[in-house]
Amino acid sequence: MSVQHDAVQRTDFDQVMVPNYAPAAFIPVRGEGSRVWDQSGRELIDFAGGIAVNVLGHAHPALVQALTEQAGKLWHVSNVYTNEPALRLAKKLVDATFADRVFFCNSGAEANEAAFKLARRVAFDKFGEDKYEIIAATNSFHGRTLFTVNVGGQPKYSDGFGPKIQGITHVPYNDIEALKAAVSDKTCAIVLEPVQGEGGVLPADLAYLQAARELCDKHNALLVFDEVQSGMGRCGELFAYMHYGVTPDVLSSAKSLGGGFPIAAMLTRDEFAKHLAVGTHGTTYGGNALACAVGEAVIDIVNTPAVLDGVKARHQIFKARLQQIGEQYGLFSGVRGLGLLIGAVLSDAWKGKAKEVLDAAVAEGLMVLQAGPDVVRFAPSLVVSEADIEEGLERFERSVAKLTRV
Ligand SMILES: *Cc1c(COP(=O)(O)O)cnc(C)c1O
Repeated sequence: MSVQHDAVQRTDFDQVMVPNYAPAAFIPVRGEGSRVWDQSGRELIDFAGGIAVNVLGHAHPALVQALTEQAGKLWHVSNVYTNEPALRLAKKLVDATFADRVFFCNSGAEANEAAFKLARRVAFDKFGEDKYEIIAATNSFHGRTLFTVNVGGQPKYSDGFGPKIQGITHVPYNDIEALKAAVSDKTCAIVLEPVQGEGGVLPADLAYLQAARELCDKHNALLVFDEVQSGMGRCGELFAYMHYGVTPDVLSSAKSLGGGFPIAAMLTRDEFAKHLAVGTHGTTYGGNALACAVGEAVIDIVNTPAVLDGVKARHQIFKARLQQIGEQYGLFSGVRGLGLLIGAVLSDAWKGKAKEVLDAAVAEGLMVLQAGPDVVRFAPSLVVSEADIEEGLERFERSVAKLTRV
């Protein structure tokens, strides 16, 4: 049985939605694997993955089953009660990572908000009110709440919203000397994305993350890794910190964690978690049973050698083909990233024109992303088939051939 709905169109967006987004001209209505269909029945290949979210593509049978089974049982009870899916997912995250404790919430911004509040509370409890400074990287992205835009290193997101949150310093990413110069005994946390996602798909240097770890240890500060985009298999390991072998004190996860269902988590160790005692922090929906049931199905599938090794193999296919396209048409100066978080950097001649590349791709039936104005970003499903990769990159090449011909 299906419900009758009133017909809606893209033009309705401009009438009824707050104009903070500029969505594409078509409206997706159905997805399966790495294919999406719009209202007119047109089929597209999805290398955007809902911005690095749809880690197992669209309508993955195991996720549909987890969601529908749980939907018939119990949706929500709040944190006045705990629930079985939340406890099962938390155990799996603890077993698979450095962490002993999990705090669930609903978005990447909220997971980071919790991480930053935790870092400040730990420092306050142990060292007093003068230790509150957070060191973050220029061009970083941590979400859109007031605290997270202030920690994020992009003034275009934090300007114009009243007084800034105090005690946040930004240093250039991958610059060890700048980090050293900024850290002091007033620092409560260094916050880094192991791979800057929105900032252009820029992986950290190993020595940089190692230096951040050492500086945190020396100054009693927490090392916070924002793995909202890089985590949950995206970079070829369950979390990117495992790829580097540099372990944080606090880690935020979201996006891929729910495979398309909103859920996020902050992970940390016992000695820090204990500072968020009863009443210090909370959220109504965090650890929602439906969300956690889906998250459990996601980690069961993603955290397997078959999927993680598959990510590394697919990386090679994407990288080789994108490099070839970039050279042939003079579009890219390089291709970078880890696993299936890949950034193709536009050459000088095409700088600032990532949006044009996206639009050209859509015209050929392919969804890709940008990461700033100068980088075309690919964040497909981790289990995208080789046939879909092939066909998607064919479409991409056709779009590039047309775009560069004019
Ligand atoms: C997307 C993203 C966020 C914000 O997540 P939301 O779910 O949009 O709040 C934070 N950090 C990083 C690294 C991200 O990529």
